[in-house]
Parts: sequence; structure tokens; C-alpha cells
Amino acid sequence: MAGKPEYRAWFQSIEDAAERYPLDEVVYTASNGSLLEVAHDRDELSKTSATDWKALFRDRSHITEWPYGSGVWGKKEWVLPEVDNENIVSMYEGNSNLFWADRYGRELGLEDLWIKQCGNSHTGSFKDLGMTVLVSMVKEMVSRGKAIPAVACASTGDTSAALSAYAAAAGLPAVVFLPRGKVSIAQLIQPIANGAIVFALDTDFDGCMEIVREVAQKDGIYLANSMNSLRIEGQKTVGIEICEQFDWEVPDWMIIPGGNLGNVSALAKGLDMLVDLGLVDRRPRIVCAQAEAANPLYLSYQRDFAVFEPIAARPTLATAIQIGNPVSIAKAISALQRYDGIVEQASEAEIADSCARADKTGLFNCPHTGVALAAMEKLLRRDVIKSSDRVVVLSTAHGLKFIDFKVKYHEMALKGIASDHANAAIELPARYGAVRDEMLRQIDSRFGG
Ligand SMILES: *Cc1c(COP(=O)(O)O)cnc(C)c1O
Repeated sequence: MAGKPEYRAWFQSIEDAAERYPLDEVVYTASNGSLLEVAHDRDELSKTSATDWKALFRDRSHITEWPYGSGVWGKKEWVLPEVDNENIVSMYEGNSNLFWADRYGRELGLEDLWIKQCGNSHTGSFKDLGMTVLVSMVKEMVSRGKAIPAVACASTGDTSAALSAYAAAAGLPAVVFLPRGKVSIAQLIQPIANGAIVFALDTDFDGCMEIVREVAQKDGIYLANSMNSLRIEGQKTVGIEICEQFDWEVPDWMIIPGGNLGNVSALAKGLDMLVDLGLVDRRPRIVCAQAEAANPLYLSYQRDFAVFEPIAARPTLATAIQIGNPVSIAKAISALQRYDGIVEQASEAEIADSCARADKTGLFNCPHTGVALAAMEKLLRRDVIKSSDRVVVLSTAHGLKFIDFKVKYHEMALKGIASDHANAAIELPARYGAVRDEMLRQIDSRFGG
């Protein structure tokens, strides 16, 4: 009889499987500068049958028994098996809803379109999936006696919000570096409210990134930006969860926006485990969608990934993916090659219009999701995606975090964008007759014959 399974995981260089580090070591890159990934003892995991894994995951979903009701920690053995449950810092992230966008799909000519609402999460974006893992590991390291004075990131948006919330829940100091004057109120308020140490520096995002690397190197502050592959381990559960929500039937397409390209790498990494451990028997195709203003992966894809050149990203409505030199480029290219991948891009007008068209059918999308929707519409028009295909779009953040561009869109105030689906408020005196006439006219023009 085999004994109790001994699940193990470690950091490993993506270029040399022999270069390994324990997960409680403070290390972010391999000796030659390449990225690390978290590797798992597959032999140990494969001692449990696919049927038993499926049953375990199903039994745990949404339960209150700590910490397994979290979408991430319900798959603890596949994520971070050796961390003590007492040290896990979770807001029961994951298990986000996947719904059939029936009306939106029908308008486009797609019968089987689904949206995975990763933004329906504690801090409003998928970044929670990765941050629960990273902050839990930090708490575990502190409990093992490691001296970690604080966790830190450079970010203007969703990463700093997630880090601040999880660090606050754990009682760990969080330090957030933001470029002064370049951050919206919505982006600033989450770390402020969660009690993070917020620095507004006279520089841009790259300048903040330099500072955070320096404090990580010289002062032992733990780096929470996405080059830290612990985050990928949590984020990888999203693809597993989607397949689980379809009762282990693999959809034809998964479409995801990409900036630093950690999330598309994570999506593929989770799906790899499903295939390796026999829970599913095929792979979906993955589409990575980029804003035309920040499209270095798209340009590389045009040349079959033979070359990759960083670019200077221009401003885009999709602010979280305005990145010209993505950290996870090597992982992303490998992921797309394994998943018969496609990279598509979207202009600013396409992003805004796709968001607005989808919103009119009851969705409420962030601009990054708009990039994915626009890419999907293009592939559908080119007949690459067929009308009967099952398509899942990964919505990365809650639309309410990104309302400035929606307000401007509907006020027709976005420069260079026609706002084809604008829906401005109608201003009238408060008189029944005038209101009734206009109301009936509007109902008829929008929904009439
Ligand atoms: C971080 C983020 C992305 C991009 O993810 P990468 O891993 O950087 O490619 C997309 N959308 C939203 C809302 C994000 O916060």
C-alpha cells in the first residue's frame, strides 16, 4: 500500500529544470536572468486518479471549511501544497461566475458565447487569484522565521489593490509605488483605504519599477510584481475552473487580454495540468488580445515568434495592459505555441465600441475585456471562429473600476472615437406630456418593429 501522498512544489528555471530553489527562498529569477516557474511533483499528483481529483474539487467548491471554499485553495495540492492552512490568506477568491452571454452572442452570430467574470472578486480583478498565493507564502515564510519587513509592488492599478487587501488581511506591511499624478482616484483609493504605505513618486511606472526592485534587492522587501512566479500559480486555476464549470468539457476557444503576459501564461499552465493528469483529453485554442497601442506580442506573432522586440507602449483606454516590454514574454510565446494560439489586436475605437455593444446586452465590461471582445469579433468575421464554436472570454476586471472611459464614451467625449453606441441621458423639464412623448419615441426607436 502506498503511504499518504507527499505533494511537493519548488521554483525551477524555465530554461534549466535542474536549477531549483525551495519556495520559501527569496528568489525571483534564475542565475542566468530567465524566469522561474513553480514546478510540481507530477508522479505524486498522478497517484490520485482523474476521477478522484474531479470529485475532490467538486466537493470543496463553495464550502466553508478553511481554506478549501476558495477557488484557488480548493486546488491546494496543485497550487501550493506545503503551506500550512493556518498561514493561508484568502478572501475566498475564485469560483467566479461563468455565464452564457446569449443575447450578445446572438447579435454577433455566435451560439455558444460565455464570459468568465474574473472581476467579480474581492478587489475587482483576477489579480486576487495570484495575490492570495503570494501573500500566503510570505506569511508562511515569516512563520518559519524568515525576516521579511514588507511586501511591495509598483503598479497603478489592480496589482496594488490586490496586494494591499491581502497584506492588510494578513497584518503584513504593504508598500505601493505609484507615479504621482498619473493615477485615477479609483486606482488610488483601494491601497489608501487598506492602509498600505502609498508612495506617489515623481516618475512614471518604469521609474516606480526601478525603485521597487532596488528596495527588494537592498532592503529585503518582498517583491510582489508578476515576475514573482508564485502569482502565476494562483492565476492558473482560472482555466481549470472554466473546464470544471463545463463539467470537464473543454471549450473550443479561450480569449484573454494580455499586457505583461503573466495571465495568458498562467491560463495555459493550469490547462497543462488538466491534460497531464488526465482530467481532460484535449486543449482549447487560446487567443491573446492586445491593444494596438501596446502590441509587442502581436508584432512578434506576425513573424511566427521568430523575433521579439520590445516597443514603447502608447496610451490606451486599456491602461492595465499598456506595456511594451512584457516580463512574461518567454512563457507566453511557449503557451501560445502549445495551444495553437492566435494573437489579435484592437484599436481604441474597437475597444470602446465592443465594450459598449456588449454593455447594451447587460454586461458591464472593463476596457481590457473590451480588447478581448473586439479580438473575438474580428476572428468571427474572418471565420476563424465558427458560429457554432464554444467561446469563453476571460473578463479580467470589474467594469465599475474603470468607469471614466465609459462616462466619456457616452458623452461622446473620447477623442477620435465616434461612440456609435452612445446613450446620453435625456434632459427634459419635469412635465408629464413632454416626458411621455419622448419616452414612447425612445422605446419605439430602440425596440420597435
Ligand atoms: C493585470 C491585468 C491585465 C493583464 O494581465 P497580464 O498578466 O499583465 O497580461 C489585464 N486586465 C486587467 C484588468 C488587469 O488588471
